Amino acid sequence: MVIAKAWVLKKHFDGFPKTSDFDLKKIELPNLKDGGEQKLLLESVFLSVDPYMRPYSQRYMKEGDIMIGTQIARIVESKNPAFTVGAFVMGDRGWRTHFVSDGKDLQLLPSNWPESLPRSLALGTVGMPGLTAYFGLLEICKMKPGETVLVNAAAGAVGSVVGQLAKIGGCKVVGCAGSDDKVAYLKKIGFDEAFNYKTVKTLDEALHKASPDGYDCFFDNVGGEFASVAINQMKKYGRIAVCGAISQYNDSVPQKGPYVQIPMIFKELQMEGFIVSRWNNRREEGLQALLKWVVEGKVKCHEQVTEGFENMPMAFIGMLKGENIGKAVVKV
Ligand code: NDP
Repeated sequence: MVIAKAWVLKKHFDGFPKTSDFDLKKIELPNLKDGGEQKLLLESVFLSVDPYMRPYSQRYMKEGDIMIGTQIARIVESKNPAFTVGAFVMGDRGWRTHFVSDGKDLQLLPSNWPESLPRSLALGTVGMPGLTAYFGLLEICKMKPGETVLVNAAAGAVGSVVGQLAKIGGCKVVGCAGSDDKVAYLKKIGFDEAFNYKTVKTLDEALHKASPDGYDCFFDNVGGEFASVAINQMKKYGRIAVCGAISQYNDSVPQKGPYVQIPMIFKELQMEGFIVSRWNNRREEGLQALLKWVVEGKVKCHEQVTEGFENMPMAFIGMLKGENIGKAVVKV
């Protein structure tokens, strides 16, 4: 019999999440059966901590639920011939060390995944965050060669891919991040301009200096005040992909404007929110494109790896505080 460990939401977050909002539970797993839903036993190897977990918990979870999230898991026992023991899959089973499954809710990693490539990248650059960058740029920003793309939270999981894909697409890229180390990283991976939004005199001035002609595309991961300032520096007919609003996720009281209508009208902007699952039917296309660029070295990846399942809440809180460069993951 296997005892799984799982992190549950003990108390709904009030403002910034605290470690005391989580509880570590033990769950006895059923033995495998030939029929039914208990055909596979899996152990999580890498778990993802993502910003969406903060607003999602508020909307869709109740206290006592296991924290949502995805993992790379290894098949430990199998009564399903489609999955061999030792194979790695992607699961969507939340913050737990072990789980059982019939296999229907699991996704295999692309069959051409190179042995030398860390499988944890399937939670990052060659996974959901990479796909967010890919479809957000292509389908919402509709970037074209020669255009200027602005991205914030630029050194993170999504932002770092946005900048590199925009460079591959022939654009000029400006990125903003919250530390000088992150700015140095952005320059290293090919951003044309990068600045620390926490230390510039004014954001308006820094955005203007980085691209005096303004921006054709704005990939917004942050929302709030940053977006209110950036919108005024869009070029006419600019496109804004509203990907995330991390500056607002921990607010107990909603922030107030300025409001977007006036610049939207006079600059004739397009602004569209999106969720990456809109393109689930094109997932394979996106993953193959990202995998190819990573293998060719055209897209560089960085991961912030926290060791130990017991440190999941700390890793999640650290990511929300901006401690990560690239994708924040936990190695069990
Ligand atoms: P990141 O790896 O970028 O980590 C979060 C980063 O956000 C931090 O490192 C920090 O970087 C920045 N940040 C945190 N708080 C603030 C704040 N108050 N103001 C400005 N920046 C802040 O996370 P992801 O790449 O996974 O996600 C980035 C965004 O994309 C999030 O908003 C997320 O919700 C969204 N997202 C949306 C998806 C969709 O389908 N629409 C899918 C995936 C992600 P810094 O030090 O630079 O401040």
